[in-house]
Amino acid sequence: MDMNVSQLLRDPIGSTRVFQIDETVDIIGDGKSHKIQGKCNMLRTQRSILVKCALNTEVELTCSRCLGKFRHPLKIRFEEEFLPTLDVQSDTPLPPPEEASTFTIDEQHTLDLTEAVRQYSLLAIPMKALCKKNCAGLCPACGKNLNQGKCSCPAPDTDPRWSRLAELK
Ligand SMILES: [Zn+2]
Ligand SMILES: [Zn+2]
Repeated sequence: MDMNVSQLLRDPIGSTRVFQIDETVDIIGDGKSHKIQGKCNMLRTQRSILVKCALNTEVELTCSRCLGKFRHPLKIRFEEEFLPTLDVQSDTPLPPPEEASTFTIDEQHTLDLTEAVRQYSLLAIPMKALCKKNCAGLCPACGKNLNQGKCSCPAPDTDPRWSRLAELK
């Protein structure tokens, strides 16, 4: 996801560009290609290019309850500053950013969004994914996926504190 921003770097502070993104990449390293679509706004600031992206993709997740695989839409939203490594007017190297984790624009004035998109995609993936809100999960005794129907296991033992109540019926 490379963008050439040499012109934007030469533009006055406050200049903007909009980049449409429509790419298929293995963004989260799961060996699958994900179609990523959306747009990124870029703003020339005094020292950097401020990038604001709103992207959408879809990933395959494993349900934490029934272990079934399902497609999950992912909204990737972020705002990050990208610092140039070369002064665009004089072509002289700039001092490296203080924080090693800062995103940079390379010597060819290429702003590569891949790493930022990867990091924010991983953040957007739910920790405990459910294939649906009321997923019935697996039977603890036979392991059958209860979304596909009941199994023939006996009902689990009821709490003895309720048995008196059951006798009343
Ligand atoms: Zn499930
Ligand atoms: Zn069962």
